[in-house]
Amino acid sequence: MDFLHNIAIVGAGMAGLAAARVLQQAGKDVQIFDKGHRPGGRMSSRCNAHGLFDLGAQYFTVRDPGFARIIEAFEREGVVAKWPQIMARHDNGQWQIQHPEHPRYTGTPSMRALTDALSASLEISHQIRITSMTRTPSGWQLENQYGHVRSGFDHVIVAIPAPQAIELVGDIMTPPLSLHAMSSCWSTWVRFKAPLKMPPGIDTWQGAFLADSPVLRWAARNQTRPGQHEGERITLLARDDWSDRHLEMTPAQIADKMVAAFKDEYSEALPAIEACGAHRWKYAQPRERPKGAEGYLTDMSKGLSLCGDWCIDGRVEAAWQSGTRLAQALCHPDTPSPT
Ligand SMILES: Cc1cc2nc3c(=O)[nH]c(=O)nc-3n(C[C@H](O)[C@H](O)[C@H](O)COP(=O)(O)OP(=O)(O)OC[C@H]3O[C@@H](n4cnc5c(N)ncnc54)[C@H](O)[C@@H]3O)c2cc1C
Repeated sequence: MDFLHNIAIVGAGMAGLAAARVLQQAGKDVQIFDKGHRPGGRMSSRCNAHGLFDLGAQYFTVRDPGFARIIEAFEREGVVAKWPQIMARHDNGQWQIQHPEHPRYTGTPSMRALTDALSASLEISHQIRITSMTRTPSGWQLENQYGHVRSGFDHVIVAIPAPQAIELVGDIMTPPLSLHAMSSCWSTWVRFKAPLKMPPGIDTWQGAFLADSPVLRWAARNQTRPGQHEGERITLLARDDWSDRHLEMTPAQIADKMVAAFKDEYSEALPAIEACGAHRWKYAQPRERPKGAEGYLTDMSKGLSLCGDWCIDGRVEAAWQSGTRLAQALCHPDTPSPT
C-alpha cells in the first residue's frame, strides 16, 4: 500500500506500540502521541518515595505464537520474567495455593520495563492529548490540548480505550462507532512497615485472588516481582462493580476502604502501615468481548483505524494482538486476517 506512508498513532499502550513496531519494520514513518508522561497506558508502574508498585496490569499470559516469540526474546534479555509463580486463592474462608495452567509474566522489575523496551526505537510525543481530528485533502490534521496542529498523515490509528475513542472519532468512522462499555477499577498501593504474616497452610504467596471479599479481587506483593526485593509493598485491586459504585470518591477515602477490606479478608493481623494511596482507572477493562470481530476496526476510505484490548478482550496479550493484526492488515491488505 504505497500511499500509506506517514502514519499517526494516538495512544502508546500495548496496542499502539505493537502496531507501531510492525509498521516501522515495514518502512513506514510512524509518529505516536500519548497524553501520559511515559508509554504503557494501563501497563504503567508507579514509583514513589515508598517504592515501586504495579497499579495496572499485574501479569500477562502468552499463548499467541507471535507474542511468544517476542516475549521469549525479552525473557532472554531480562526484560520480562515469569511471575507470579506462587499464587494463592482465598475462597470460602480457606487459603490455597493455585497452580496456573499457563505461565504468567511480568516486566523486570515492573511492568513498565516491557513497554519501555517495546518503545525504544519509536518516536513518541508524550504529554500530548489529541483533542480533535480532521480529514483534509492533504491528509489528517491532529489538534492537541494546546491548540497545536500536526498535519499530513495518510492514516491515523486510534489505540485508546473505547469510550475515549468514541469521543474522538465516534462520528467520523463509517459505520459510526457503537458503544463498547468499559468497567472501572480502583487500585490501592500500601507500604507496610514489616512483612506480612503468612495465612494458615501457606508458606508464602506472590499474588492472591480474593474470592470472598465484596470489595477486593486481587492482591500482589510487589517485592516478590523479579528484580525487586525490599519492603512489603502490596497492590490491591477492587472489584469492578465496587469500583463503579465508588468512582467519585477521593483516592484517600478509597485507600482507607480498600485497606480495611484487606484487613477483613486477611487471616492474620496486618503490620503497621508506612503509607498508602489509590489510583483510579476510569476505563479499566471491556465489559464484554466483541463477537466475530477481526480484532480491530478500519475505514480505509477515510484512512482511519482503531485498535485496543477492547476489540478482543481485556488483556495485555489481546491488546498486542489487536495492534499487530491491524498493522499487518494495513501493510498487506490482501492477506486474510488470522482470526
Ligand atoms: C487495574 C488493571 C489490572 C489489569 N490486570 C491485567 C492483568 O493482570 N493481565 C492482563 O493481561 N491485563 C490486565 N489488565 C488489562 C491490560 O492492562 C489492558 O488490556 C492493556 O494494557 C490495554 O492496552 P491498550 O493499548 O489497548 O490500552 P491502554 O493501555 O489504555 O493505552 C491507551 C493509551 O492511550 C493514551 N490516550 C488516551 N486518550 C488519548 C488521547 N486523546 N490522546 C493521546 N493519548 C491518549 C493513554 O494515555 C494510554 O497510554 C488490567 C488493567 C487494569 C486497569
